Amino acid sequence: MYSIFHMRCPRCHEGPIFHSNNLFKPTSALKMHSSCSACGFNYQPEPGFYFGASYVSYALTTAIAIAVFVVLLPFFSWEEEWIYFSAIGGSLLLSFPIVFRLSRSIWINLFFKYKSPEERAKGEDADFPDLRKR
Ligand SMILES: [Zn+2]
Repeated sequence: MYSIFHMRCPRCHEGPIFHSNNLFKPTSALKMHSSCSACGFNYQPEPGFYFGASYVSYALTTAIAIAVFVVLLPFFSWEEEWIYFSAIGGSLLLSFPIVFRLSRSIWINLFFKYKSPEERAKGEDADFPDLRKR
C-alpha cells in the first residue's frame, strides 16, 4: 500500500516510479523512470507489461463514475441526464493523471513485493524459487 500510494519502487519503497509528482505537468507526471534510482529495479520487466494496467484503470474509472453518479442522484432528476454525463465525463477527465499513475503503480505492485536490503543483496532471483538448485 505504501508503494502504491506514494508511487515508489515496489522493491525498495525509495525510488520514485514517475518523473514528477506535479499532476499539472502531464509530460513529466505521466513519464516513468526505466529503473529505480535507489535499487536499480527494472520498471519495465517485459515489453507491454503495463497493458494489464488498463484493466486496473478500467476498474478505477468505473468506481469514480459510479461514485459521481451516486453523489449526484439525490440532487438531480433523470430528465437532467446531461448533468450526469458532463459531471462523470469531467471527473474522469480531471482524474485521468491520477488514475493513470495509480493503475500502473497498482499493476507493478501486484507482481513485485517489497524486499529488505538484506533480501535485495541476494539478487533479483530471490523473488522466485530457484528450480535449478533442486
Ligand atoms: Zn527500488
